[in-house]
Amino acid sequence: MLWDLPEHQKYINICIRCPLCNKKCEIFVDREEVENDPSGIVRVPIEHDSPEPHILVVDIDSSGFPRGIYIIRGYGGLERIPVADVIRSIGLENFARLLCWLLIYDNVCLYGYDEDTARLLRMLLSCIFSGAKRFVSEDKAEKKINIFNVPMLEFNIDLIVRRIKTAISSIRDHKSLAAYIRHEVQKYADFLEVLEKIMKQSARKLTMEDLIKMTDNELGKEEIKILLAILRARGISVEDKVIVPEFRITEVF
Ligand SMILES: [Zn+2]
Repeated sequence: MLWDLPEHQKYINICIRCPLCNKKCEIFVDREEVENDPSGIVRVPIEHDSPEPHILVVDIDSSGFPRGIYIIRGYGGLERIPVADVIRSIGLENFARLLCWLLIYDNVCLYGYDEDTARLLRMLLSCIFSGAKRFVSEDKAEKKINIFNVPMLEFNIDLIVRRIKTAISSIRDHKSLAAYIRHEVQKYADFLEVLEKIMKQSARKLTMEDLIKMTDNELGKEEIKILLAILRARGISVEDKVIVPEFRITEVF
């Protein structure tokens, strides 16, 4: 009889350490709830905000044993993000630079004097990069970035700034705006892989026209230049594989 049990037996109480953020979580589950569940298991989702938004999901059986622990990440909690406002609050230029730094590095520490904005921005970027990037603490980061003063890149990113500006002025719905930016960024990420393979495998020097054709004309010259510069920043040798006759190489990269 449940009501005869002392309080500590009515509830299953377990302690779990989150494998992603290492936070210790105490979970209370109503024993009756587990016993009444046809699967014999209760699934408890716990929301964590840092270093990026994620959900720790714990499956607990009636003996209080954690039968499964997993993490859901990269979903972004989009409905809570005022996407356009977050982008405007750090500035379009800073945001565009951030996207490029994230195309170069995988483990990045984002910080800023306004932690609320930083948190929302991490959520937004988690969504845009489909969870492929890790927002880590300072000591684990390949690149540390102040979101209100994002370092300049060594290449011209006007195109990306313009595209974001247009998107913000033409898309009203926050989720749609994020989805659109995600689509664009995903395209760049995909073509970065294609171009990297080409750079590593091609035996001859390629012209800009060759590269545009290789992307089935999906990318323009300006975009390819940005992607080549990103590959170069990743440490991939680009100059000896590409001929760009209309620019001196130092101007391109
Ligand atoms: Zn966690």
